[in-house]
Amino acid sequence: MRLYDSRKRILVTGGAGFVGSHLCDRLLEQGHEVLCADNLFTGTKRNIEHLHNHPRFEFMRHDVTFPLYVEVDQIYNLACPASPVHYQHDPVQTTKTSVHGAINMLGLAKRLDCKILQASTSEVYGDPQQHPQTEDYWGHVNPIGVRSCYDEGKRCAETLFFDYHRQNGLAIKVARIFNTYGPRMHPKDGRVVSNFIWQALNGTPITIYGDGSQTRSFCFVDDLVRGLISLMETDDSVTGPVNIGNPGEFSILELAEKVLEQVGGDSNLVREPLPSDDPMQRCPDITRARNLLNWEPTIPLAEGLIPTIAYFRELLAEHQAMAG
Ligand code: NAD
Ligand code: UDP
Repeated sequence: MRLYDSRKRILVTGGAGFVGSHLCDRLLEQGHEVLCADNLFTGTKRNIEHLHNHPRFEFMRHDVTFPLYVEVDQIYNLACPASPVHYQHDPVQTTKTSVHGAINMLGLAKRLDCKILQASTSEVYGDPQQHPQTEDYWGHVNPIGVRSCYDEGKRCAETLFFDYHRQNGLAIKVARIFNTYGPRMHPKDGRVVSNFIWQALNGTPITIYGDGSQTRSFCFVDDLVRGLISLMETDDSVTGPVNIGNPGEFSILELAEKVLEQVGGDSNLVREPLPSDDPMQRCPDITRARNLLNWEPTIPLAEGLIPTIAYFRELLAEHQAMAG
């Protein structure tokens, strides 16, 4: 527990989501006050119900596309649906959330003269032609495809962050987050880790899109949250962007094997078409994070899958109990 004089009041937008709820937990453990603002589009009250009676936690139902007037010392801007199924459900709203949300949160940070961190994404690199991706790489992004609402929304948000920094001297931090997994992922969000675990637990076929040779690098959520907080704690000269991810790279077929190894069961693999604009390779170069934050991930995929699978088992048991 920190001393009272270092306690901060911290706004986490998207705090009822998968990553945001873990970030709220960690900030509370550090002794801060947390204001969680979320419209519960993809987040759930279940993710934060254990904080319901916490004296330093407050939940506010709020949509970041509208201005917010609160008094805080720091802002983590995470509000945005993150899985392709969710962000493609209402693409116009996704762009609004990224762009109007960034403008509103940056306006708030400007009025309060406080640090603000943006949860950006490896999607700003699109289907990358440089491998692994360094922060200097400008990306290879389709501006008019089905993923563009998310990719271009996040790219525009980064532009806004850097313009507020240049124009208004705002202390900004931009984290480019690579695929993250862990407990509290949404079971129906269509992401590969949650899909495969849910399918394996239910004994239904594991859906491999394309030939399964495309790669991703999977970071356990605790490692990510530690990285985000370390970035926020840097001095004002550090703006980022900084890649935060686990450089351990796996093909989707390798991931399926790992999940089946741990869950057991007799799910077979089925091939489904590769979604449009699906990046073929993704792996972060984390040299900058190592140098600036002294950060690197410590939890390998096989280890992080254990609590993640345990979480989904619990969720499945709840669903089965409810179904009678
Ligand atoms: P999530 O969908 O679980 O969480 C997003 C949260 O934002 C949800 O609680 C949702 O209800 C809320 N939200 C959405 N639109 C909102 C709006 N208009 N106003 C207020 N709240 C809104 O996703 P996540 O995986 O926790 O992602 C959190 C952040 O990290 C997102 O900004 C995402 O783009 C970024 N990110 C995540 C990953 C990943 O692998 N999980 C990778 C790259 C970037
Ligand atoms: N994927 C898959 N089967 C699934 C879900 C996803 O093969 O049931 C693939 C998807 O095509 C992509 C990769 O897994 O190549 C990661 O997908 P996810 O939606 O998790 O994240 P993103 O594409 O945004 O990295």
